[in-house]
Amino acid sequence: MEIFDLREFDAHEQVVFGYDAATGMRAIIALHSTTLGPAAGGCRLWPYASTAEAVADVLRLSRGMSYKNAMADLKFGGGKAVLIADGRKGKTPELFEAFGRFVDSLGGRYVTAEDVGTTTADMGSVARATRYVAGLGRAPGEAGGDPGPKTALGVFLGLKAAVKFRLERSELAGVRVAVQGVGGVGYHLCRMLAAEGATLQVADVRPAAVQRVVDEFGATAVPVEEILAADVDVLAPCALGAVLNAASFPRLRAKVVAGAANNQLAQGQDGSALTTAGILYAPDYVINAGGIISVAREYYGGATEAQVLEDIQHIPQRLTEIFERARREGRTTNAVADQMARERLGRPERARAHQLVA
Ligand code: NAD
Repeated sequence: MEIFDLREFDAHEQVVFGYDAATGMRAIIALHSTTLGPAAGGCRLWPYASTAEAVADVLRLSRGMSYKNAMADLKFGGGKAVLIADGRKGKTPELFEAFGRFVDSLGGRYVTAEDVGTTTADMGSVARATRYVAGLGRAPGEAGGDPGPKTALGVFLGLKAAVKFRLERSELAGVRVAVQGVGGVGYHLCRMLAAEGATLQVADVRPAAVQRVVDEFGATAVPVEEILAADVDVLAPCALGAVLNAASFPRLRAKVVAGAANNQLAQGQDGSALTTAGILYAPDYVINAGGIISVAREYYGGATEAQVLEDIQHIPQRLTEIFERARREGRTTNAVADQMARERLGRPERARAHQLVA
């Protein structure tokens, strides 16, 4: 595998492979940039079909973390880890402890936390072997814990900023929002949207998760294959990446796309199809930074939950700056965000001919 030639490589500082014979742990840690601080980003546990697939994913996600952390003004560089395992059978405390030793071997150049497939409890096992971990259980009022609800708050505030900018509505009452994926982030987003009077349409591959938001927030259930084309004002992708692609563009009816999912624009998409269709896109790594903001406060210590909530209030301002600049310069919002992020990283040049998304 020619890692240095992969289009996802983008001048990563370090990529490390870890193996533990006793537990069978197979993990990769990628450090895209440590210019602004230790490379921070979650640990994804996923049954990758091949090592090549895992490498491409960790590189793409780690670069995205550099952008996300830079745009959130955090003293963190960008990194990510992937554990190649099946979450239904391969998860044990020993596996995470072995992963913790792997993280520790980097001496603090990488800080881990939870991501898709890993939980607060798993990070507790990691913490037995290293102090370079956050997203742990915490006392009431202290910064930290599960990042999901914090991510949801940032998305909620960012969504409101996008609605104000594109639809010129400062209240959410009566605004129709489609939420794809009502898991850790989507559920809390629905809660906040419903509390402000938004009308919800929701879809999830887990029927019980859908039923919960139908029962609790009066949402309308929509088939999974219909949610992207729902007749709504706002689409909030909170499940998978690459949902904004050539197949979905002509079907979108929302005027705003603002959600938590990473990598919403499929590889090769530059976002111009959205701009041409009059759809305002809130760049994913800017709107979904609430969780890493919480992780940063927890990791550096001595902070309260109230300070985390205050930091998250800056997300809508950052987005509005991006929206305004994109309009002024006739560019896409994602191109403007990418340029701002790269300038902060001291890498103003565009990466080689491929889409820069988080
Ligand atoms: P999660 O796994 O808790 O929830 C995702 C939900 O999407 C699940 O309920 C799942 O059943 C559902 N889903 C999967 N495939 C689907 C499909 N095809 N259609 C509809 N629903 C589907 O994950 P999460 O923590 O809520 O994160 C959601 C997204 O936000 C992910 O892309 C994640 O990478 C991103 N994100 C999360 C955080 C965080 O703090 N948790 C931070 C930044 C970004």
